[in-house]
Amino acid sequence: MSYLASSDPEIHRAIRGELKRQYNQLEMIASENIVSPAVLEAQGSIFTNKYAEGYPGRRYYGGCEYADQVEALAVGRARELFGAEYANVQAHSGSQANMAVYFACLNPGDTVLGMDLAHGGHLSHGSAVNFSGQLYNFVSYGVSRETERLDMDEVRRLALEHRPKMIVAGASAYPRVLDFAAFRRIADEIGALFMVDMAHIAGLVAAGIHPSPVPHADFVTTTTHKTLRGPRGGLILAKEEFGKKLDSKIFPGIQGGPLVHVIAAKAVVFKEAMSEEFRRNMAQVAKNAQALGQALVARGFRLVSGGTDNHLLLVDLTPKKITGKAAEEILEAAGITVNKNAIPFDTEKRFVTSGIRIGTPAVTTRGLQEPEMEQIATWIDRALANGGTTPDQAVLAEIRREVAELCDRFPIYLDMQPDREA
Ligand code: PLP
Repeated sequence: MSYLASSDPEIHRAIRGELKRQYNQLEMIASENIVSPAVLEAQGSIFTNKYAEGYPGRRYYGGCEYADQVEALAVGRARELFGAEYANVQAHSGSQANMAVYFACLNPGDTVLGMDLAHGGHLSHGSAVNFSGQLYNFVSYGVSRETERLDMDEVRRLALEHRPKMIVAGASAYPRVLDFAAFRRIADEIGALFMVDMAHIAGLVAAGIHPSPVPHADFVTTTTHKTLRGPRGGLILAKEEFGKKLDSKIFPGIQGGPLVHVIAAKAVVFKEAMSEEFRRNMAQVAKNAQALGQALVARGFRLVSGGTDNHLLLVDLTPKKITGKAAEEILEAAGITVNKNAIPFDTEKRFVTSGIRIGTPAVTTRGLQEPEMEQIATWIDRALANGGTTPDQAVLAEIRREVAELCDRFPIYLDMQPDREA
């Protein structure tokens, strides 16, 4: 019997329920992954108890000997993994990593050029409902209507017109390679700083599957929990010259004590990401995305930009006469978890959308390969066949059973099997 089961059965039941959910469905949300048991163990460790405001060797609390070791290891590994001069591993999230960079080099009202949320950018790149859009004068670039890819001539045109102090590259729903060298050239032309938020592609960058922004950007931010397959959190990489300022913006600027247990888990994943196993996994993530994309196209689905170079597909459901919202709900009932997502120039409301975003990181971590991608495309096609108006419940139940059988063949967390009845 676990401690939790006896002290807090309600939370214990919810955790067991979530384990069963993760075990029995195909996780295809592009920003999610399945961390290793070692990452879970580090994050669940007794560092949960420790306050360690400050940085290794300069703390505001006693008893930080081991916290210092953990953070120094995490920083050293992050720098080695990405070839960066400086790393800060304390950011609690990707948004806070971005906030620290903005605070380090922008003043309220400064102009920044970032990717439009509606075209695949992130909230923290200038959305009006986010601090970034409220504090700074963000101007947005988007994808071209014809190619649905970034048009670097248009980015340059906007840069020359608006003369931003900083250009931000990076996206949450963009399936193509980002040309960091081209962004850098534009930034240099107007004397702007250049930040890359590589949250979605950090694992692919670590494995050399996507070109690295580190040689080109002044600042690189990321989350550690998407393709990188680590704990939920943020990371900042930069040129050494910005280090002191960035450290002070994270603490005491916008955060208090670091989450040492999370930093320990970040250190674990940075080590994992230097392994051959991780590189193979990331290569397979990209291969799986391509295989799934081709299999969906063969079944009449339209992919935004025509395909993918990374870990995600943005599927335009308009030809299938179904909304993103309906598709998300139907696929969930079939055991396949995705999220509704606006496509560029979407005419549907934000909570409805015309698209879904599908990612391959988590299913690849489970061990699924190209043949299973073909199978998943068949299931998606069958589940959405009725256009979303009257999904056939018997068909969805049958797919759900088949999905669960596949999941049984590719289990997760072998030492914590879900209760069959939970
Ligand atoms: N940056 C990008 C490109 C993202 O996609 C996300 C999360 O989806 C974030 C930043 C924010 O990360 P967090 O949710 O940890 O604040």
